[in-house]
Amino acid sequence: MRLKYYGVRGSIPTPGPQTIRYGGNTPCVALWCDDNLLILDAGTGLRVLGEELMANSFGKGQGKATILISHTHWDHIQGFPFFRPAYIKGNSFGLCGVAKTNKGLETAMHHQQEYRNFPVLLGQMPSRIVFTALEEGGQVNIDGIRISTAPLNHPGGSCAYRVDFNGRSVVYASDTEHFENIDLRLLTLCRDADLLIYDTMFTPAEYEKHRGWGHSTWQEGITLAKQANVKALHMFHHQPGHSDDDLENILESAREHFPAISLAKEGWELTL
Ligand SMILES: [Zn+2]
Ligand SMILES: [Zn+2]
Repeated sequence: MRLKYYGVRGSIPTPGPQTIRYGGNTPCVALWCDDNLLILDAGTGLRVLGEELMANSFGKGQGKATILISHTHWDHIQGFPFFRPAYIKGNSFGLCGVAKTNKGLETAMHHQQEYRNFPVLLGQMPSRIVFTALEEGGQVNIDGIRISTAPLNHPGGSCAYRVDFNGRSVVYASDTEHFENIDLRLLTLCRDADLLIYDTMFTPAEYEKHRGWGHSTWQEGITLAKQANVKALHMFHHQPGHSDDDLENILESAREHFPAISLAKEGWELTL
């Protein structure tokens, strides 16, 4: 599996000199399982991924990808109207969300591209776009890739994905607030994973002022990673107010408790 980050920022894009190193685009992670492409969330980072994809089969209208959407808050879908491969006839995209919110996913994607919001309707995009409902807490196999889901604790709901392929596993858990006790469904999903990408939007001190906002901390991410025997933890959904320097200071504190922790960074590519 090959993974590349295209958007790691939470809530709103944050361009500017303070965010150059870690990036300002909102959530989008590409995961290649051999030749199959999975895209986790369609935040503004999707635009950049789309430009890169145009150089290969997607530019010729022969591309195919599965896009797993955690939930439909703007920062997780706003890149789709600017995703150039979706404008090429012949390309095919499966947009997936859990069944409970999938109706909401399809509706939200159409609303985002109503004329009052954007000049091109979703139905006018020439590529083939198919919505697929996944069962909450269930498993599916797409092209030999096992995808498992678990519900997250977030206003309006959100969904975590685990991808298993060729003996390697990645869990993507963006936009979740931890509970008093560990989230057992998420713990089960994360069990023995090679990599956990986790919502560490708030520092423990900031969290005290933002209870109920639906986001978590590095401290809770580490607790989860340790209990689930996860090998590596990537801090994700960076707070818009955190500069590159802030993030590195936060990482330094976190690393004392879990050495295999890193900051997700736009453009970072790794092989699992
Ligand atoms: Zn978000
Ligand atoms: Zn959200």
